[in-house]
Amino acid sequence: MAWMVAAICTVVVSAQTRVTPPRNKYTPEQDVQIGREAAAEVRQEYPIIDDRQIDGYLDELGRRLIAAAPADLKHPAFEYSFTPVNLKEINAFALPGGPMFVNRGMFMAASAEGEVVGVMAHELAHVLLRHGTANATKAQGFQLGALAGAIAGAVIGGGWGEAISQGSQFGLGTWLLKYSRDYEKQADLLGAQIMARAGYDPRDLARMFETIQKQANGTPPQWLSSHPNPGNRSRYIAEEASTFEIGPRPDSNGFASTKRRFDTLPPAKSMADMGREGGGSSGGGGAPAPVGRIGEAVPAPSRQYRTARGGQLFRVNVPSNWIAVSSNNSVKFVPQNGYGESRGQTVLTHGVELGVARASSRDLRQATGTLVQAFLQGNPEMRIAGESQATRLSNRTAIGTPLVGRSAVGGTERVAVYTTFLADGNLFYYLTVVPEREADAYEVAFNRVGQSIRLNDR
Ligand SMILES: [Zn+2]
Repeated sequence: MAWMVAAICTVVVSAQTRVTPPRNKYTPEQDVQIGREAAAEVRQEYPIIDDRQIDGYLDELGRRLIAAAPADLKHPAFEYSFTPVNLKEINAFALPGGPMFVNRGMFMAASAEGEVVGVMAHELAHVLLRHGTANATKAQGFQLGALAGAIAGAVIGGGWGEAISQGSQFGLGTWLLKYSRDYEKQADLLGAQIMARAGYDPRDLARMFETIQKQANGTPPQWLSSHPNPGNRSRYIAEEASTFEIGPRPDSNGFASTKRRFDTLPPAKSMADMGREGGGSSGGGGAPAPVGRIGEAVPAPSRQYRTARGGQLFRVNVPSNWIAVSSNNSVKFVPQNGYGESRGQTVLTHGVELGVARASSRDLRQATGTLVQAFLQGNPEMRIAGESQATRLSNRTAIGTPLVGRSAVGGTERVAVYTTFLADGNLFYYLTVVPEREADAYEVAFNRVGQSIRLNDR
């Protein structure tokens, strides 16, 4: 009888699930190129932690996992990196070809080293199985050059990031790093195998998923929205774990000391904080927060300027006292008390907006006409105030259209809309708003902002 049991066990041991990478029309070198560009973008937008102890510890965990990964999936071109990010959200993500980012929030939510390692092993599995470009393979008709921007846009978040990805390719970026349930299961299984070989109990991975799920409180954390639970996650991970022996536990006591090290850093930011500071995004969903109160004094535009970036799509110089407000397809830069609630509506009384809109036509005049009509429909008291004029925007042919309306702070409001085509045929617009009586004080700022816009879509 004892012999039988042993025999059955042997069979079970050999029953480790074989995980095969999905079809992919890209080369591993292209994964690396896409990931490298997107990572550079992420590093510019995200609060990266530069701390030798934390960097070193994450790197140590990462290298241990790579050493335990199947040789046939480790493409020589891959460039692995493990970067800590000072963000509160429980999130981690890896880009094609190797760059991985781990939020402080993820680290702090983990109760043991194995749990952080579990998430990293899962992310590494997505890289090794090349799931990002496998997703792109399933999509039709986009160019390689658009991918990095699309991915960076998707990662940077639901706000301006979405517009960046849409600017380069509608709807693409938002799902490139959004994995199907099939891919999730693959990453769980391969991640569990790598963990075990590296000396960690794969059940820690399942435990971390449960922690993430519990933190949800009704709103699913960011990580879960791009890594959907295929169902029975904990069970099949435990089953997979029982099919192999766990390797010798690595000698490490860095977890507790690294956690303490995090406590010495400046407080973690949230995605929403990043949005308010500009260049980042609102971090997804919901109406952007008002900037002060409509009707209260609005400070004059600062004569100092700062550079803000819309991901890969553009950069612009704005008065240093203007605050960025991101929404799905646009970002506004507004002075204090220039954007907020007025009689139940959110209004912009002072400032600028830059955005991307679908073009109704390949003809700039027609496409602009449609966009302006859409603005007018949303603002019944607004009308066209004169002829459209040919102008330049980022060294491209553009059209400027003057409008007038009624300002929420009283009196006439002056609005101007400038439009030009993006390389992919979408419309980019730059819009200025100011009460007529203050127009002179804003003219210099509006011109300077407009002239500083640099589109970077080709
Ligand atoms: Zn995943």
